[in-house]
Amino acid sequence: MLKDRHGRTVNYLRLAVTDRCNLRCFYCMPEEGIDWLARKELMTYEEMLRLCAAFVKMGIEKIRVTGGEPFVRKGFMPFLTKLSQLDGLKELTITTNGVLTAPFVPQMKKIGIRSVNLSLDTLDRNRFFAITRRDELPQVLDTLEQLLKHNIEVKLNAVVMEGQNTDDILPLVALTKSKPVSVRFIEEMPFNGGEGHVKSLSWDHAQILDTIKSAYPAITKLVDPPFSTSFNYQIPGYKGTVGIIAAYTRSFCGSCNRIRLTPLGDMKTCLYGHSVLNFKDLLRAGASEAELQAALEKAISLKDATGWEAEKNNAGQASLSASMATIGG
Ligand code: SAM
Ligand code: SF4
Repeated sequence: MLKDRHGRTVNYLRLAVTDRCNLRCFYCMPEEGIDWLARKELMTYEEMLRLCAAFVKMGIEKIRVTGGEPFVRKGFMPFLTKLSQLDGLKELTITTNGVLTAPFVPQMKKIGIRSVNLSLDTLDRNRFFAITRRDELPQVLDTLEQLLKHNIEVKLNAVVMEGQNTDDILPLVALTKSKPVSVRFIEEMPFNGGEGHVKSLSWDHAQILDTIKSAYPAITKLVDPPFSTSFNYQIPGYKGTVGIIAAYTRSFCGSCNRIRLTPLGDMKTCLYGHSVLNFKDLLRAGASEAELQAALEKAISLKDATGWEAEKNNAGQASLSASMATIGG
């Protein structure tokens, strides 16, 4: 078991396979995109598989593959298939924008993917275009239908942005009436590739909940699963659930069980922290499995207590102006 110095068990890796993306969500990156990483700087799939195999032996039980958009990297599905075959891995999940995903859903089901996070900030096509700068809503909705048809659990991620999609909160909640999805509203974080930071957050978790409660006063609180980053609710009689993720307010750090690996191989033990170690460099310098595992153990032991502490320790290291696509959301 991997434990940090605050007694938390770490068993969840978020692995970003690319920084590239086919959308340009304005809360994540500028319209012109970001300075994409050179291909040779990215970890290869073989390197990622080697690392994941070593980490799983140490106690990592769950891997979420993310990015950038994972499906834009060539060879992603064969990689995912190999990852799904790792001995000891209990759960493999994906976060995707859903633009290219629909045709791969049957294969995802076949290799045992039970749950997918699909990003969807609005059900309105014009607003989708305004937020993502691409006209791809029908493709995303097709992915949603395919996932539900294949009985894959769906969590819909919606970033709540003042002046952009707060009118979408209630229509997204209404989706849970007939669809067994979990719609999760996420506080906007500063990682937008430098286009201007979120300085204060007017649409925090409390305001989001108030908005939902004003339309659905009977909404009830559910018991949150262990390590959940969302506060979860359900409207009586509805098939789906509603979650609120205080990603900026950071109220869930006490039970944090996760680490992140960026496409460059940088390990972040907190989203708000800096890289504590580069695993690609270690691999390319010929590290043995035991050396990789010792490095992982040390990195985890130094995990900061909270995102606020990590941000403070990160002062001057500029990663708050990074894009979520380079960190791996
Ligand atoms: N491209 C995929 C997608 O959009 O689902 C995976 C990567 S994306 C960086 C992962 C998640 O991070 C998405 O759900 C996205 O909404 C979220 N995200 C990106 N930038 C964010 C920000 N500034 N604040 C809060 N969430 C953000
Ligand atoms: Fe791409 Fe996901 Fe970032 Fe949107 S949030 S730009 S889909 S990586």
